[in-house]
Amino acid sequence: MRSSGVKENEIMSEVPTLVAALSALIQPKDSPVALHEPEFMGQEWAYIKRCLDTGWVSASGEFVDRFEQDLATRCETTHALVTMNGTAALHAALVGFGIGGNDEVLVPSLTFVATANAVSYTHATLHFVDSDPNRLGICPDKLKEYLEQITEVVGSGKYGPTVRNKTTKRVIKAILVTHVFGHPVDMDKVLEIASQFGLIVIEDAAEGLGSLYRGRPLGSIGHAGILSFNGNKIITTGGGGAIVTNDDAFASQIRHLCTTAKRPHPWEYEHDMIGYNYRLPNINAALGCAQLERLDNFLDRKRQLSMQYKAALEKLTSLDFVEEPDDSLSNYWLNAIKFHRPLSGQERRKVLETLHHEGLLCRPVWSLMHRLPMYEHCPRMDMAICEDLVARIVNIPSSANLVAA
Ligand SMILES: *Cc1c(COP(=O)(O)O)cnc(C)c1O
Repeated sequence: MRSSGVKENEIMSEVPTLVAALSALIQPKDSPVALHEPEFMGQEWAYIKRCLDTGWVSASGEFVDRFEQDLATRCETTHALVTMNGTAALHAALVGFGIGGNDEVLVPSLTFVATANAVSYTHATLHFVDSDPNRLGICPDKLKEYLEQITEVVGSGKYGPTVRNKTTKRVIKAILVTHVFGHPVDMDKVLEIASQFGLIVIEDAAEGLGSLYRGRPLGSIGHAGILSFNGNKIITTGGGGAIVTNDDAFASQIRHLCTTAKRPHPWEYEHDMIGYNYRLPNINAALGCAQLERLDNFLDRKRQLSMQYKAALEKLTSLDFVEEPDDSLSNYWLNAIKFHRPLSGQERRKVLETLHHEGLLCRPVWSLMHRLPMYEHCPRMDMAICEDLVARIVNIPSSANLVAA
C-alpha cells in the first residue's frame, strides 16, 4: 500500500483520464448521457394501441395474464403476480408472509430506500446488515457470526427454529436481500443461514431481472422475489413491479391481498380482510410484454458495454471496474467503478461535478439506510464494509442504447 497522501493525489489527478476513457466510449458531446434510460423499439406501440382499441386499460386483461406468464417463465417460477410498482410488491410479499409489528426483519443498509420503507409499512422492526465487499449485497459470513451472538432459539416454526433477538426480544422472522446493481448475493450461503435461523428469504431483485446466480434466475431462489419495472430499470412498464414465487399458498394469498381481498363473485362485493389495490393495469402490462421480448437484446448490449468499460478502465491505477461474481452472470444493470480508497466528501463532490460538467450523469451509490434520519435508531450490526463502499463507488452510464441495436 502506498501512503494515503500519494493516493489522494493519484485519484484526483486521474479524473481527467477517467473522463476521457468514458467519453471515448459513450460520446456525451451532443447531449448529456443519463445513468439509465429506457428504449422502445419493439411492439410497445402495437400492444398499447390494442389496449386502447379494446378498452382494456385497467387492472385486468390479456396483457396482465400474458406478462405474468412470461415473467414466471423467464424467472423459472411457478407464479408471478404483477403490481403497480416494486415497492408495492415488497410490501405485499411481507404482508403475505404474515410479517407485522411484533417481528424483526433483516435488511441490508446498502440498498435503495424502498426496501427499508416496505418493511416499515408492516410496522416490523428493521435490523440492518453489512455488505460483502465484492458482491455489494449482504455478507452471509459476517451475518451468520453476528446472528450466532445476538439470538436465542425460543421454539420452532414453519421455516425452522424460531429465533429471537436477545436484546429486543422480538422474533427475527425474515431477511430481505438486495441484489445490488444486478450482481447476485451469495444465495446458497443465505439459504443456509435462513434454515439455521428459521428465516423467510425475500429477494429484492428489483435490479436483477436477467441475472443468474449459479445458473438460477434472481428472484426464484428465496421463498419469494420481487422485481421492479420503473423507468430506470432494465425493462420498464412506466411504473410496475412483480412478485415471483414457487409457493402456491403464498401466491394465492398475495393475489387476494393485492386485489382488495375481494372474494370471487359475479356481482357481490365481498372482502374478507383489509386488502390493497396493488395490481398493475393492462396498459402497463402491454408495455411490459413488449419490453420483455427485448430483454435478451438489452442484456447482450449491456454486457458489451460493461466489457468495453472494463477494457477501457484497466489502465487506470486509482480505481477498479466492478465485475460480476465468478459464480454468476450479472445483468450489469448499473455499471460501477470503485476507487482504491474512500473519497472524502469534498473529493466525491469534485469527481461528480467534473463528470457532470462533461455530460456524464454519474451518480454515487445510495445513502446508507442506517444514516437516514428515520432509520438511524434501528438495531444494526457493525457497518464498516458498506460505509467503506459508499465512499468508493460511483455508478457510470449503463443504458443498453449506448451500444448500437
Ligand atoms: C427500484 C428499486 C425498488 C423499488 O421499485 P419501484 O418500482 O421504484 O417501487 C426496490 N428496491 C430496489 C433495490 C430498487 O432498485
